[in-house]
Amino acid sequence: MTTWNGPSGLDRLPAARSEGEADAAWRDALVVEVDRDGGIAAREGAPLVVPASGKRLPTDILLGRVAGRPWFARPVAELNGTAVGWRDVVTADQDALAAAVALTRWHGLSPACEACGAATVPDLAGARRRCLACGALAFPRTDPCVIVAITDPDDRLLLARQAQWAQRRVSIIAGFIEAGESAEQACHREAFEEVGVRLAGLSYAGSQPWPMPRSLMLGFLGRAVDSRIRVDGDEIAEGAYYTREELVAAVAATSVVLPPHASIARGLIERWLSAR
Ligand SMILES: [Zn+2]
Repeated sequence: MTTWNGPSGLDRLPAARSEGEADAAWRDALVVEVDRDGGIAAREGAPLVVPASGKRLPTDILLGRVAGRPWFARPVAELNGTAVGWRDVVTADQDALAAAVALTRWHGLSPACEACGAATVPDLAGARRRCLACGALAFPRTDPCVIVAITDPDDRLLLARQAQWAQRRVSIIAGFIEAGESAEQACHREAFEEVGVRLAGLSYAGSQPWPMPRSLMLGFLGRAVDSRIRVDGDEIAEGAYYTREELVAAVAATSVVLPPHASIARGLIERWLSAR
């Protein structure tokens, strides 16, 4: 999986500064189609990334360059063929594909001007949107979330199941950062709201884009003051602390199902498992 803690494989600096630059980039570009739900065009389970042909469309999005070559995302209403989900893609191109999904979804969800409510159109090959009435510019937004691997004083890991998830599916605690709140404050709040846990300390562990549709996951390790849990019964249906031996056995017996390998949730769980 991509670990997301080194430099990105997508060079975003050479975004177009003019239509002429965007046209020049198009001539040498690779293109990937993305639908409104973030599905990526695929062939035999792998992303279908093809040389640009024909005319560049006003809706085509210049992502940047991968190994020196421009990449565009082409938003489509429906893919002509099979799709692969962003989280299922495990290739060196995952950085560019994450941007393709995030930007396609942002453009798809951003039809009106925040200043005056009039329609907006893509500008500078999708780097921003421009209002047709007042000229205001809108830039892609990212919604920050926190995700916390909480351990108790015995170094057991807290795993919980959201009420909307399938039976046996568990993960660590996560939630959106609210307006006017720091990432650390969001960790403390989510831990107490969802599972009734007070945290004695927090440390930052790393981040991961999650363009579903436009989140950034900020990963933390949290130490609980004691081993008490009180699930909220609303968002969280059940939760429990596990020793490493208990979790390994539960996974082997399929009595719990962990998050997908591509997720930072899984990364933080694996990190705790391997830290004996
Ligand atoms: Zn406007």
